[in-house]
Amino acid sequence: MATNADERARELRRLIEEANHHYYVLDDPQLSDADYDLLLRELLDIEDRYPELRTPDSPTQRVGAPAAERFAPYQHRIPMLSLANATNAEELRAFDERVRKLAGGPQSYVVELKIDGLATSLQYRDGALERGGTRGDGRTGEDVTPNLRTISSIPLRLRSGQAHGHLGHVEIEVRGEVYLKKSDFAKLNNAREKTGLPVFANPRNAASGGVRQLDPRLTAERKLSFFAYSLVLSEARAPRTQWQSLELLKRLGLSVNPHVAHCTSIDEVIAYCERWEGKREDLDYEIDGVVVKVDDLATQERLGAAGRDPRWAIAYKFKPREARTKLLDIVITVGRTGTLNPNAVLEPVQLGGVTVRNATLHNEEYIASNDIRAGDVVLVTRAGDVIPRVVGPVLSERKGKLRRFVMPQRCPVCGADVDHPEGEAMSRCTNATCPAQVLERVRHFCSRGAMDIEGIGDVMAQQLTELGLVHEIADIYALDEVKLAAVPRTGEKTIANLLRNIETSKSHGLARVLTGLGIRFVGTQTAQILASDFGTIDAIAAAGAEELQQCEGIGPEVASSVSLFFAQRANRGMVERLRKAGVLMSAPKGSRAAGGKLAGKTFVLTGTLPNLTRDEAAELITQAGGKVTSSVSKKTDYVVAGSDPGSKYDKAQTLGISILDEAGLRNLL
Ligand code: NAD
Repeated sequence: MATNADERARELRRLIEEANHHYYVLDDPQLSDADYDLLLRELLDIEDRYPELRTPDSPTQRVGAPAAERFAPYQHRIPMLSLANATNAEELRAFDERVRKLAGGPQSYVVELKIDGLATSLQYRDGALERGGTRGDGRTGEDVTPNLRTISSIPLRLRSGQAHGHLGHVEIEVRGEVYLKKSDFAKLNNAREKTGLPVFANPRNAASGGVRQLDPRLTAERKLSFFAYSLVLSEARAPRTQWQSLELLKRLGLSVNPHVAHCTSIDEVIAYCERWEGKREDLDYEIDGVVVKVDDLATQERLGAAGRDPRWAIAYKFKPREARTKLLDIVITVGRTGTLNPNAVLEPVQLGGVTVRNATLHNEEYIASNDIRAGDVVLVTRAGDVIPRVVGPVLSERKGKLRRFVMPQRCPVCGADVDHPEGEAMSRCTNATCPAQVLERVRHFCSRGAMDIEGIGDVMAQQLTELGLVHEIADIYALDEVKLAAVPRTGEKTIANLLRNIETSKSHGLARVLTGLGIRFVGTQTAQILASDFGTIDAIAAAGAEELQQCEGIGPEVASSVSLFFAQRANRGMVERLRKAGVLMSAPKGSRAAGGKLAGKTFVLTGTLPNLTRDEAAELITQAGGKVTSSVSKKTDYVVAGSDPGSKYDKAQTLGISILDEAGLRNLL
């Protein structure tokens, strides 16, 4: 029996070491976290039953993986530990029992969201950031100081901490998590996809890889963020509780997660964990659980650690959003601009509370470089994205010969030739009237950020195109009661509402029309810049790429895409049809042209506003005649900053530009 256990323990150690190397060193995990946790639990279990099998170098005894040699070593004065896991309420109660027993009575806890990023240590001397490093194996990490300096939420100099008095000569160590916001992750992967670079599986990998770059400029490009969660202060008047530590961290100018809470019973802790498990999608950063910490620091010290985990804390882990399943088939859908998008058809699998049947495979290059083949067992994740993605095949499970994926040479919807332009990641259907493209264009034109025609969602758009009522977007304005009566299950009232919404959309103005046209690279913000700089669609159509580039925030790629769009006769014809239908092709009422309140004023948005998305804020500004640009310069009149503002905030301060919060913006409006 023990021989079997010994053999299995060896095997588990090898598998876990291998997984650690891929996860911590290469930032390219080969297992799902849930599968990894199962292996680790099995090993812990064997070592519990047969303590003689526990080796000092077992992964159950060590944190992370050794630091990479390409960085100077960063020695931790106090080891950076890992956390034991709980996956359900019983395990949290068992943790509370243990704590009570060891501490000799009930304890209150601080609960913090478990940010899925990279544990990092920062050392400040005399208030200035001196060094920063990764956790590594817990004793030695990697010195990545220049990279951490590029992260705008890591202050280079601490504030005095007011209530705490003068901080001169005090050595302070701050620990926290470097992470990548979901929105920044999506932008990063989009940009990488466009340039044919491999995309990241999740924000954690992208953050970890970003911090561990040799060139700090590459770190800066990733737009990383930081939350502080622990303070080591070499001074007598140090805080007595974790809660006070977090308060002090805030006063020192560090960013502390706003959702931390204080709980006086384990029931409150459990309620907090359950609440956040259901709300994790609401956040713009990934969390994979909740960290529960004994609040009293003296008790923490007394409880100490067992192996690699402190006894005074536990990580409640959410249900996994990564899973293995079979890739049944790879099918192609055709996008709005004719892109051939490969999608995975999966054996249905539960992922973080939803059943997943389909996932994106990005493009043919992604499929080839990850060697993904129909018939494979694959790893699927929903990390950082609502849309599930296939991370890669589990090669050890590949059985027999599976065919490599080949992109079709003809469009699977209309049969037209497929083109794969040199240097681009995507293949495209060359037929602009391809029904699949028309459907996507109609959907996009009617969507919220564009013409916002309520009633024409996915299903209605499909019906309208399939019934031949809409062949291109301008046909929407030729719809009437007679035509709409042909749509099954559509009553008089629905038809009347729909026609009213279509009518209203005509006066939304130029920026919305430009967004709706679906010109490559022209999203809401670019459309707003173009609309406020040029005023009319004719002026935009007449401007060459060079003139377009003169606008702040319009680069060569966007400029050439816009001028290419208007160079095509079919597109000019479509714009004419929209105009004839009565669609407003200039700024709406109240805007700059019409002498709006913010006429002539330039704004930059940064951070998360409490009640408005950035697009909504930008729209309010442009509707009032203001202009929104993407970078702060002397020409900027106002920076509107929400929580977690980026470097734009610092630049605005340096240049002495007025900074407004959401309420300030509303006042102006
Ligand atoms: P952990 O992630 O379970 O917990 C410790 C870490 O939590 C800390 O180091 C810190 O980075 C983080 N953390 C986030 N918010 C925190 C907060 N508010 N307070 C304190 N810490 C906070 O432990 P670990 O040792 O970093 O990693 C083990 C886990 O990593 C595994 O359970 C698994 O999920 C994953 N992993 C996966 C693979 C794989 O192949 N998929 C390989 C290795 C590890």
